[in-house]
Amino acid sequence: MAVEAHPFIGTAVVVRATTLLNRLLDLPGVSVCDAAWHGQQLVVDVRLRTKRLACPESGCGYSTKARYDSRAVPSWWRHLDFAEHEVIVRCLLGRLACPVHGVRVQAVPFARPLARFTRDFEDLTAFWATKTDKTTITRVLRIDWDTVGRICERVVADGLDEQRLDRLVHVGVDEVSWKKRHNYLTLLTDHDTKKVVWGKAGRDTATLDAFFDELGPGRSGRIEAVSMDMGPAYAKSVRADGHAPQAVICYDPFHAVKLVTDALDVERRKAWNELRSAGDADAAKKFKGARWCLLKNPANLDENQAATLRKLRRRGGDVWRAYTLKEAFRAIFSGDLAPDEAGHLIDRWISRASRSRLPAFVKAAKTIRKHRDGILAALRLGINNARAEGLNSVVRLIFRRARGFHSPQAALALTMLTCGPITLRLPHEQPKIRAG
Ligand SMILES: [Zn+2]
Repeated sequence: MAVEAHPFIGTAVVVRATTLLNRLLDLPGVSVCDAAWHGQQLVVDVRLRTKRLACPESGCGYSTKARYDSRAVPSWWRHLDFAEHEVIVRCLLGRLACPVHGVRVQAVPFARPLARFTRDFEDLTAFWATKTDKTTITRVLRIDWDTVGRICERVVADGLDEQRLDRLVHVGVDEVSWKKRHNYLTLLTDHDTKKVVWGKAGRDTATLDAFFDELGPGRSGRIEAVSMDMGPAYAKSVRADGHAPQAVICYDPFHAVKLVTDALDVERRKAWNELRSAGDADAAKKFKGARWCLLKNPANLDENQAATLRKLRRRGGDVWRAYTLKEAFRAIFSGDLAPDEAGHLIDRWISRASRSRLPAFVKAAKTIRKHRDGILAALRLGINNARAEGLNSVVRLIFRRARGFHSPQAALALTMLTCGPITLRLPHEQPKIRAG
């Protein structure tokens, strides 16, 4: 019997429903046996093609043909949706006795160990998580936000570049708040690749010690510079024996400028409180509104803010003196000064600020003096502001999204997915051998 060619779809080829489903699901290593609708869900029963049972523990690699017992363990996974229907893949798994890990349910090639989702579903979720907000993801994928967090953790554990810690030379260490009220993560950035390569909950000396423990003395010994903020915790860990005492500690000028900007804000608040307690409510109100005019870079002010700034200048007094000190300090780092010239200007600034009789600036000058060499080292090595530009704003965005997670591990995983050395592939971009 001749088959007529259809004008749009070519010669029709009749396929069996299970073959069609095999193609649609596109899961490696399995064949579809049966499928049925359960309400809105399409439940597909599959069987594994291989007779070998593999240990599910990561990096184990043990496999055997011998089953531990004849018990079949019913298991299921959520797979990519089919039209508007959720797809559930079901399979009976066997148990094996791994010489290292003991009795385990066998691994499957299409899902990560302990996951209730297929690899494809998890990869898609991880991709979405780096691109959009919580409400969109949970609505489109129909899973809750904590599930998204756990999926991110598994994808990162699976896909992070294992050599990311091997060639560290210039690194930056930073604390980031991932949730309100003292929930901090310490993040390690490779300044040369501009990737976040390591992270851990906490922000004290012990947190960074864990990084050096993982790195070991060999790789730690090759680190040449570590940039950080001016707190003592991280420096103490870097200086410890077996860590990286040979490394130059750099203080990011970004942090130094922030310290001085904070000092200006202290002086501004003080002036505002004085006006308010003197009963000058109008002037006090204006002063409060002047906050951004004072703290922002003058080049970024709009017309109104520039006018307010001119008024403050005419008014003079402590706040204006504090402002000129802040601007003088910021200017040191905004040009391309050689470290020698910058050093000279920093020294002059320190002596000016120390004599200013503005308590917040006297204190700031003391801190800057103590960290002067580290600030200059950052300028000399050119590893300043790597986090302040670009990466920092991405990390902040990610952390706003990660607030809904209830574990720091999930927040860290989302950071690594977005800023770490990992290649996220969507299901159709995976270079894998598929079911026929
Ligand atoms: Zn094993």
